[in-house]
Amino acid sequence: MADKRDYYEVLGVPKNADDAALKKAYRVLAKKYHPDTNPGNAEAEAKFKEASEAYAVLSDPEKRQKYDQFGHAAFDGGAGGAGTGGFGFDFNFEDMGDIFGDIFGGMFGGGSRRSYNGPQKGANIRTSIRVTFEEAAFGCEKEVELTLKDECAKCNGTGAKPGTTPDTCSKCGGKGQVVFTQQSLFGTVRNVQTCPDCKGKGKVVKDKCPDCYGTGYISSRKKIQVTVPAGIDNGQSIRIRGKGEPGTNGGERGDLLVEVIVSRHHIFERQDYTVYSESPISFAQAALGGDIKIKTIDGDVLFNIKPGTQTHTKVRLRNKGIPTLRNKNVRGDHIVTLVVQVPEKMSSEQKEALKAFDELMGGSLKASKEDNDTIKEEKKKKGFFDKIKDTFDN
Ligand SMILES: [Zn+2]
Ligand SMILES: [Zn+2]
Repeated sequence: MADKRDYYEVLGVPKNADDAALKKAYRVLAKKYHPDTNPGNAEAEAKFKEASEAYAVLSDPEKRQKYDQFGHAAFDGGAGGAGTGGFGFDFNFEDMGDIFGDIFGGMFGGGSRRSYNGPQKGANIRTSIRVTFEEAAFGCEKEVELTLKDECAKCNGTGAKPGTTPDTCSKCGGKGQVVFTQQSLFGTVRNVQTCPDCKGKGKVVKDKCPDCYGTGYISSRKKIQVTVPAGIDNGQSIRIRGKGEPGTNGGERGDLLVEVIVSRHHIFERQDYTVYSESPISFAQAALGGDIKIKTIDGDVLFNIKPGTQTHTKVRLRNKGIPTLRNKNVRGDHIVTLVVQVPEKMSSEQKEALKAFDELMGGSLKASKEDNDTIKEEKKKKGFFDKIKDTFDN
Protein backbone atom coordinates (compact mmCIF):
# COMPACT_ATOMS: atom_id res chain seq x y z
CA MET A 1 0.00 0.00 0.00
CA ALA A 2 2.79 2.35 0.87
CA ASP A 3 3.96 2.77 -2.70
CA LYS A 4 0.52 3.55 -4.07
CA ARG A 5 0.31 7.18 -5.01
CA ASP A 6 -2.30 9.47 -3.61
CA TYR A 7 -5.20 9.86 -6.04
CA TYR A 8 -5.16 13.64 -5.85
CA GLU A 9 -1.44 13.57 -6.53
CA VAL A 10 -1.97 11.24 -9.49
CA LEU A 11 -4.42 13.66 -11.08
CA GLY A 12 -2.46 16.69 -9.93
CA VAL A 13 -5.44 18.39 -8.32
CA PRO A 14 -5.97 19.85 -4.82
CA LYS A 15 -8.03 17.95 -2.24
CA ASN A 16 -10.95 20.31 -2.69
CA ALA A 17 -11.01 20.02 -6.51
CA ASP A 18 -14.52 20.08 -7.92
CA ASP A 19 -15.92 17.69 -10.52
CA ALA A 20 -14.99 19.91 -13.44
CA ALA A 21 -11.38 20.18 -12.29
CA LEU A 22 -11.17 16.40 -11.80
CA LYS A 23 -12.60 15.73 -15.20
CA LYS A 24 -10.29 18.22 -16.85
CA ALA A 25 -7.21 16.80 -15.15
CA TYR A 26 -8.19 13.25 -15.99
CA ARG A 27 -8.98 14.10 -19.58
CA VAL A 28 -5.48 15.48 -20.11
CA LEU A 29 -3.81 12.43 -18.56
CA ALA A 30 -6.05 9.89 -20.24
CA LYS A 31 -5.51 11.49 -23.61
CA LYS A 32 -1.76 11.44 -23.08
CA TYR A 33 -1.52 7.87 -21.85
CA HIS A 34 -4.43 6.20 -23.62
CA PRO A 35 -3.37 2.77 -24.99
CA ASP A 36 -4.78 3.70 -28.39
CA THR A 37 -2.27 6.53 -28.68
CA ASN A 38 0.58 4.57 -27.05
CA PRO A 39 0.34 1.09 -28.52
CA GLY A 40 2.62 -1.38 -26.76
CA ASN A 41 3.88 1.16 -24.23
CA ALA A 42 3.57 -0.57 -20.85
CA GLU A 43 4.56 2.49 -18.88
CA ALA A 44 1.91 4.63 -20.55
CA GLU A 45 -0.64 1.89 -19.93
CA ALA A 46 0.28 1.79 -16.25
CA LYS A 47 -0.06 5.56 -16.01
CA PHE A 48 -3.37 5.40 -17.84
CA LYS A 49 -4.68 2.80 -15.40
CA GLU A 50 -3.42 4.75 -12.44
CA ALA A 51 -5.15 7.92 -13.62
CA SER A 52 -8.31 5.99 -14.50
CA GLU A 53 -8.42 4.41 -11.05
CA ALA A 54 -7.94 7.77 -9.42
CA TYR A 55 -10.65 9.34 -11.51
CA ALA A 56 -13.06 6.42 -11.07
CA VAL A 57 -12.84 6.83 -7.32
CA LEU A 58 -12.73 10.61 -7.01
CA SER A 59 -15.53 11.20 -9.52
CA ASP A 60 -17.86 9.03 -7.45
CA PRO A 61 -19.00 11.06 -4.41
CA GLU A 62 -19.48 8.00 -2.20
CA LYS A 63 -16.11 6.49 -3.07
CA ARG A 64 -14.41 9.83 -2.77
CA GLN A 65 -15.76 10.34 0.71
CA LYS A 66 -14.49 6.90 1.75
CA TYR A 67 -11.13 7.59 0.18
CA ASP A 68 -10.86 10.95 1.92
CA GLN A 69 -11.64 9.25 5.21
CA PHE A 70 -9.64 6.05 4.97
CA GLY A 71 -7.24 6.49 2.06
CA HIS A 72 -6.42 3.49 -0.08
CA ALA A 73 -7.38 1.21 2.80
CA ALA A 74 -11.00 1.99 2.00
CA PHE A 75 -10.76 -0.23 -1.06
CA ASP A 76 -8.38 -2.79 0.31
CA GLY A 77 -10.61 -5.80 -0.20
CA GLY A 78 -11.42 -6.45 3.45
CA ALA A 79 -7.93 -6.05 4.90
CA GLY A 80 -9.11 -3.90 7.74
CA GLY A 81 -10.89 -1.11 5.91
CA ALA A 82 -11.37 0.83 9.14
CA GLY A 83 -14.39 -1.09 10.20
CA THR A 84 -16.21 -0.86 6.91
CA GLY A 85 -15.36 -4.43 6.07
CA GLY A 86 -13.54 -3.11 3.08
CA PHE A 87 -14.95 -1.61 0.02
CA GLY A 88 -13.97 -4.47 -2.23
CA PHE A 89 -13.99 -2.21 -5.22
CA ASP A 90 -13.57 -4.45 -8.23
CA PHE A 91 -11.94 -2.21 -10.71
CA ASN A 92 -13.08 -3.07 -14.17
CA PHE A 93 -12.23 -1.28 -17.38
CA GLU A 94 -15.58 -2.16 -18.85
CA ASP A 95 -17.13 0.05 -16.21
CA MET A 96 -15.06 2.88 -17.53
CA GLY A 97 -17.14 2.87 -20.71
CA ASP A 98 -19.54 5.48 -19.41
CA ILE A 99 -16.75 7.63 -18.15
CA PHE A 100 -14.97 7.45 -21.48
CA GLY A 101 -18.15 8.29 -23.30
CA ASP A 102 -18.68 11.17 -20.96
CA ILE A 103 -15.13 12.43 -21.09
CA PHE A 104 -14.14 11.83 -24.67
CA GLY A 105 -17.48 11.98 -26.41
CA GLY A 106 -16.58 8.93 -28.44
CA MET A 107 -13.09 10.17 -29.22
CA PHE A 108 -11.61 6.73 -28.88
CA GLY A 109 -14.85 5.06 -29.87
CA GLY A 110 -14.03 2.06 -27.72
CA GLY A 111 -13.17 0.38 -31.01
CA SER A 112 -10.71 -2.06 -29.54
CA ARG A 113 -13.10 -2.89 -26.76
CA ARG A 114 -16.12 -3.58 -28.94
CA SER A 115 -15.51 -7.26 -28.93
CA TYR A 116 -18.74 -8.63 -27.56
CA ASN A 117 -20.52 -11.47 -29.14
CA GLY A 118 -23.78 -9.55 -29.64
CA PRO A 119 -25.01 -7.91 -32.86
CA GLN A 120 -22.54 -5.36 -34.20
CA LYS A 121 -23.31 -2.79 -36.84
CA GLY A 122 -21.08 -3.08 -39.90
CA ALA A 123 -18.46 -0.48 -40.76
CA ASN A 124 -19.30 2.53 -42.92
CA ILE A 125 -17.90 2.76 -46.45
CA ARG A 126 -16.80 6.03 -48.03
CA THR A 127 -16.85 6.93 -51.68
CA SER A 128 -17.21 10.10 -53.73
CA ILE A 129 -19.04 11.36 -56.79
CA ARG A 130 -18.49 14.35 -59.05
CA VAL A 131 -21.42 16.57 -60.01
CA THR A 132 -21.73 19.76 -62.03
CA PHE A 133 -22.44 23.14 -60.47
CA GLU A 134 -26.07 22.97 -61.66
CA GLU A 135 -26.53 19.37 -60.48
CA ALA A 136 -25.42 20.43 -57.01
CA ALA A 137 -27.75 23.43 -57.12
CA PHE A 138 -30.87 21.62 -58.24
CA GLY A 139 -30.16 18.05 -57.13
CA CYS A 140 -29.84 14.98 -59.33
CA GLU A 141 -29.80 11.21 -59.39
CA LYS A 142 -26.44 9.51 -59.67
CA GLU A 143 -25.19 5.99 -59.63
CA VAL A 144 -22.06 4.76 -57.89
CA GLU A 145 -20.48 1.40 -58.49
CA LEU A 146 -18.53 -0.23 -55.71
CA THR A 147 -17.58 -3.56 -54.26
CA LEU A 148 -19.88 -4.61 -51.46
CA LYS A 149 -19.63 -7.59 -49.17
CA ASP A 150 -22.73 -9.73 -48.70
CA GLU A 151 -23.39 -12.65 -46.48
CA CYS A 152 -22.45 -15.82 -48.38
CA ALA A 153 -25.66 -17.50 -49.54
CA LYS A 154 -24.15 -20.97 -49.55
CA CYS A 155 -23.20 -21.00 -45.87
CA ASN A 156 -25.53 -18.23 -44.66
CA GLY A 157 -22.53 -16.28 -43.52
CA THR A 158 -21.23 -18.93 -41.14
CA GLY A 159 -18.18 -19.65 -43.30
CA ALA A 160 -18.66 -23.38 -42.69
CA LYS A 161 -18.97 -25.92 -45.48
CA PRO A 162 -22.66 -26.79 -46.01
CA GLY A 163 -23.58 -29.78 -43.88
CA THR A 164 -21.09 -28.82 -41.21
CA THR A 165 -21.48 -26.30 -38.43
CA PRO A 166 -18.83 -24.07 -36.92
CA ASP A 167 -17.53 -25.23 -33.56
CA THR A 168 -17.85 -23.17 -30.47
CA CYS A 169 -14.49 -21.53 -29.86
CA SER A 170 -12.70 -23.38 -27.10
CA LYS A 171 -10.53 -20.45 -26.16
CA CYS A 172 -13.38 -18.12 -25.20
CA GLY A 173 -16.17 -20.64 -24.81
CA GLY A 174 -18.15 -18.86 -27.53
CA LYS A 175 -18.18 -15.49 -25.82
CA GLY A 176 -15.91 -13.85 -28.40
CA GLN A 177 -13.89 -12.18 -25.69
CA VAL A 178 -11.35 -13.30 -23.19
CA VAL A 179 -10.93 -11.84 -19.76
CA PHE A 180 -7.57 -11.56 -18.06
CA THR A 181 -7.83 -11.17 -14.33
CA GLN A 182 -4.95 -9.62 -12.49
CA GLN A 183 -4.50 -9.14 -8.79
CA SER A 184 -3.08 -5.72 -8.17
CA LEU A 185 -2.54 -3.58 -5.14
CA PHE A 186 -5.76 -1.94 -6.04
CA GLY A 187 -7.77 -5.13 -6.05
CA THR A 188 -8.89 -7.24 -8.96
CA VAL A 189 -8.25 -5.70 -12.35
CA ARG A 190 -10.05 -7.24 -15.27
CA ASN A 191 -8.95 -6.72 -18.85
CA VAL A 192 -11.27 -7.70 -21.64
CA GLN A 193 -9.91 -8.51 -25.09
CA THR A 194 -11.27 -9.82 -28.36
CA CYS A 195 -10.65 -13.55 -28.52
CA PRO A 196 -7.56 -14.07 -30.70
CA ASP A 197 -8.72 -17.49 -31.94
CA CYS A 198 -12.19 -16.61 -33.27
CA LYS A 199 -11.68 -12.83 -33.71
CA GLY A 200 -14.70 -12.19 -31.53
CA LYS A 201 -17.16 -14.41 -33.39
CA GLY A 202 -17.30 -17.07 -30.69
CA LYS A 203 -17.12 -19.78 -33.33
CA VAL A 204 -14.33 -21.38 -35.32
CA VAL A 205 -14.77 -23.00 -38.72
CA LYS A 206 -13.03 -26.32 -39.33
CA ASP A 207 -14.44 -27.21 -42.78
CA LYS A 208 -14.48 -24.01 -44.78
CA CYS A 209 -17.27 -23.09 -47.19
CA PRO A 210 -15.89 -23.39 -50.75
CA ASP A 211 -17.71 -20.28 -52.00
CA CYS A 212 -16.43 -17.77 -49.47
CA TYR A 213 -13.30 -19.62 -48.31
CA GLY A 214 -14.61 -19.56 -44.77
CA THR A 215 -14.99 -15.81 -44.52
CA GLY A 216 -18.79 -15.94 -44.61
CA TYR A 217 -18.88 -13.10 -47.14
CA ILE A 218 -18.97 -12.76 -50.90
CA SER A 219 -17.84 -9.52 -52.54
CA SER A 220 -19.43 -8.25 -55.71
CA ARG A 221 -19.70 -5.05 -57.75
CA LYS A 222 -22.94 -3.24 -57.03
CA LYS A 223 -24.58 -0.20 -58.52
CA ILE A 224 -26.15 2.07 -55.97
CA GLN A 225 -28.53 4.91 -56.68
CA VAL A 226 -27.57 8.19 -55.02
CA THR A 227 -30.13 10.95 -54.68
CA VAL A 228 -28.17 14.19 -54.56
CA PRO A 229 -30.30 16.80 -52.79
CA ALA A 230 -30.67 20.31 -54.19
CA GLY A 231 -28.32 22.75 -52.48
CA ILE A 232 -25.52 20.34 -51.60
CA ASP A 233 -22.08 21.91 -51.54
CA ASN A 234 -18.62 20.71 -52.41
CA GLY A 235 -17.23 18.39 -49.73
CA GLN A 236 -20.56 17.52 -48.13
CA SER A 237 -21.51 13.86 -47.79
CA ILE A 238 -24.71 11.96 -48.40
CA ARG A 239 -25.43 9.07 -46.04
CA ILE A 240 -27.12 6.03 -47.54
CA ARG A 241 -28.21 3.81 -44.72
CA GLY A 242 -27.54 0.10 -44.85
CA LYS A 243 -25.17 0.16 -47.83
CA GLY A 244 -21.96 -0.26 -45.86
CA GLU A 245 -20.23 -3.38 -44.60
CA PRO A 246 -22.47 -6.17 -43.30
CA GLY A 247 -22.93 -6.33 -39.55
CA THR A 248 -21.83 -9.27 -37.48
CA ASN A 249 -23.96 -11.60 -35.40
CA GLY A 250 -27.15 -10.23 -36.89
CA GLY A 251 -26.14 -6.58 -36.54
CA GLU A 252 -27.37 -4.11 -39.16
CA ARG A 253 -25.21 -3.07 -42.08
CA GLY A 254 -23.06 0.03 -41.90
CA ASP A 255 -23.78 3.07 -44.05
CA LEU A 256 -22.40 4.33 -47.33
CA LEU A 257 -21.08 7.88 -47.12
CA VAL A 258 -20.88 9.56 -50.52
CA GLU A 259 -18.79 12.71 -50.63
CA VAL A 260 -19.92 15.16 -53.28
CA ILE A 261 -17.29 16.93 -55.36
CA VAL A 262 -18.72 19.87 -57.26
CA SER A 263 -16.98 20.85 -60.51
CA ARG A 264 -16.05 24.48 -61.01
CA HIS A 265 -18.29 26.54 -63.24
CA HIS A 266 -16.94 28.83 -65.95
CA ILE A 267 -19.26 31.69 -64.98
CA PHE A 268 -20.65 31.09 -61.52
CA GLU A 269 -18.98 30.87 -58.17
CA ARG A 270 -20.65 29.95 -54.98
CA GLN A 271 -20.36 30.81 -51.31
CA ASP A 272 -22.88 28.86 -49.25
CA TYR A 273 -26.16 29.56 -51.04
CA THR A 274 -25.10 32.77 -52.76
CA VAL A 275 -24.01 32.73 -56.41
CA TYR A 276 -21.49 35.26 -57.69
CA SER A 277 -20.77 36.18 -61.29
CA GLU A 278 -19.58 39.02 -63.48
CA SER A 279 -21.62 40.38 -66.33
CA PRO A 280 -20.08 42.54 -69.08
CA ILE A 281 -21.97 45.66 -70.16
CA SER A 282 -21.07 48.15 -72.86
CA PHE A 283 -20.16 51.74 -72.15
CA ALA A 284 -23.35 52.86 -73.84
CA GLN A 285 -25.46 50.53 -71.68
CA ALA A 286 -23.72 51.76 -68.56
CA ALA A 287 -24.19 55.37 -69.52
CA LEU A 288 -27.72 55.20 -70.88
CA GLY A 289 -29.18 52.39 -68.76
CA GLY A 290 -31.66 49.83 -70.05
CA ASP A 291 -32.37 46.12 -70.04
CA ILE A 292 -29.48 43.72 -70.08
CA LYS A 293 -29.44 39.93 -70.06
CA ILE A 294 -27.80 38.33 -67.07
CA LYS A 295 -26.94 34.62 -66.95
CA THR A 296 -28.25 32.90 -63.83
CA ILE A 297 -28.58 29.24 -62.87
CA ASP A 298 -32.21 29.55 -64.03
CA GLY A 299 -31.09 30.80 -67.46
CA ASP A 300 -31.01 34.36 -68.78
CA VAL A 301 -32.95 37.00 -66.89
CA LEU A 302 -33.63 40.59 -67.95
CA PHE A 303 -32.29 43.22 -65.62
CA ASN A 304 -32.82 46.94 -65.93
CA ILE A 305 -29.71 48.96 -65.19
CA LYS A 306 -29.88 52.57 -64.14
CA PRO A 307 -28.41 55.26 -66.41
CA GLY A 308 -24.92 56.21 -65.24
CA THR A 309 -24.06 52.80 -63.82
CA GLN A 310 -20.39 52.67 -62.87
CA THR A 311 -18.16 49.72 -63.61
CA HIS A 312 -17.99 47.04 -60.88
CA THR A 313 -21.41 47.98 -59.56
CA LYS A 314 -22.88 44.99 -57.74
CA VAL A 315 -26.53 44.08 -58.17
CA ARG A 316 -28.44 41.53 -56.14
CA LEU A 317 -30.89 39.19 -57.86
CA ARG A 318 -33.06 37.93 -55.04
CA ASN A 319 -33.85 34.20 -54.87
CA LYS A 320 -31.72 33.47 -57.93
CA GLY A 321 -29.06 31.72 -55.89
CA ILE A 322 -28.74 28.13 -54.73
CA PRO A 323 -31.79 26.34 -53.25
CA THR A 324 -31.18 25.54 -49.57
CA LEU A 325 -30.78 21.96 -48.41
CA ARG A 326 -33.61 22.26 -45.90
CA ASN A 327 -36.14 23.62 -48.34
CA LYS A 328 -35.42 23.87 -52.03
CA ASN A 329 -38.03 26.59 -52.40
CA VAL A 330 -35.99 28.82 -50.15
CA ARG A 331 -33.07 30.11 -52.15
CA GLY A 332 -30.02 32.30 -51.78
CA ASP A 333 -29.37 35.38 -53.90
CA HIS A 334 -27.24 35.91 -56.97
CA ILE A 335 -24.83 38.83 -56.83
CA VAL A 336 -23.72 40.14 -60.20
CA THR A 337 -20.81 42.49 -60.72
CA LEU A 338 -21.42 44.66 -63.78
CA VAL A 339 -18.16 45.25 -65.62
CA VAL A 340 -18.08 48.00 -68.19
CA GLN A 341 -16.22 46.88 -71.29
CA VAL A 342 -13.79 49.20 -73.02
CA PRO A 343 -13.64 48.45 -76.75
CA GLU A 344 -10.20 47.24 -77.81
CA LYS A 345 -10.60 47.83 -81.54
CA MET A 346 -12.68 50.54 -83.16
CA SER A 347 -13.31 51.64 -86.71
CA SER A 348 -12.36 55.16 -87.69
CA GLU A 349 -16.05 56.08 -87.74
CA GLN A 350 -16.47 54.86 -84.21
CA LYS A 351 -13.39 56.76 -83.14
CA GLU A 352 -14.73 59.93 -84.70
CA ALA A 353 -18.04 59.48 -83.00
CA LEU A 354 -16.36 59.02 -79.67
CA LYS A 355 -14.12 62.01 -80.21
CA ALA A 356 -17.16 64.08 -81.01
CA PHE A 357 -18.74 62.75 -77.84
CA ASP A 358 -15.67 63.71 -75.90
CA GLU A 359 -15.85 67.24 -77.27
CA LEU A 360 -19.38 67.46 -76.01
CA MET A 361 -18.24 66.25 -72.62
CA GLY A 362 -15.80 69.14 -72.34
CA GLY A 363 -12.97 68.04 -74.59
CA SER A 364 -10.80 66.30 -72.05
CA LEU A 365 -9.09 64.46 -74.87
CA LYS A 366 -7.41 67.58 -76.28
CA ALA A 367 -6.31 68.91 -72.95
CA SER A 368 -4.71 65.67 -72.03
CA LYS A 369 -2.41 65.60 -75.06
CA GLU A 370 -0.18 68.03 -73.26
CA ASP A 371 0.49 66.04 -70.17
CA ASN A 372 0.43 62.58 -71.65
CA ASP A 373 3.19 61.26 -69.43
CA THR A 374 1.40 62.13 -66.23
CA ILE A 375 -1.69 60.39 -67.49
CA LYS A 376 0.18 57.19 -68.19
CA GLU A 377 1.38 57.07 -64.63
CA GLU A 378 -2.04 57.68 -63.21
CA LYS A 379 -3.67 55.21 -65.56
CA LYS A 380 -4.45 52.67 -62.86
CA LYS A 381 -6.17 55.15 -60.59
CA LYS A 382 -8.22 56.75 -63.33
CA GLY A 383 -11.86 56.39 -64.06
CA PHE A 384 -13.54 55.07 -67.11
CA PHE A 385 -13.31 58.17 -69.29
CA ASP A 386 -9.62 58.46 -68.76
CA LYS A 387 -9.15 54.87 -69.78
CA ILE A 388 -10.90 55.45 -73.06
CA LYS A 389 -8.86 58.52 -73.68
CA ASP A 390 -5.63 56.69 -72.93
CA THR A 391 -6.56 54.04 -75.42
CA PHE A 392 -6.83 56.70 -78.11
CA ASP A 393 -3.65 58.41 -77.14
CA ASN A 394 -1.59 55.31 -77.55
ZN1 LIG B 1 -19.80 -19.36 -47.54
ZN1 LIG C 1 -12.96 -17.40 -29.28
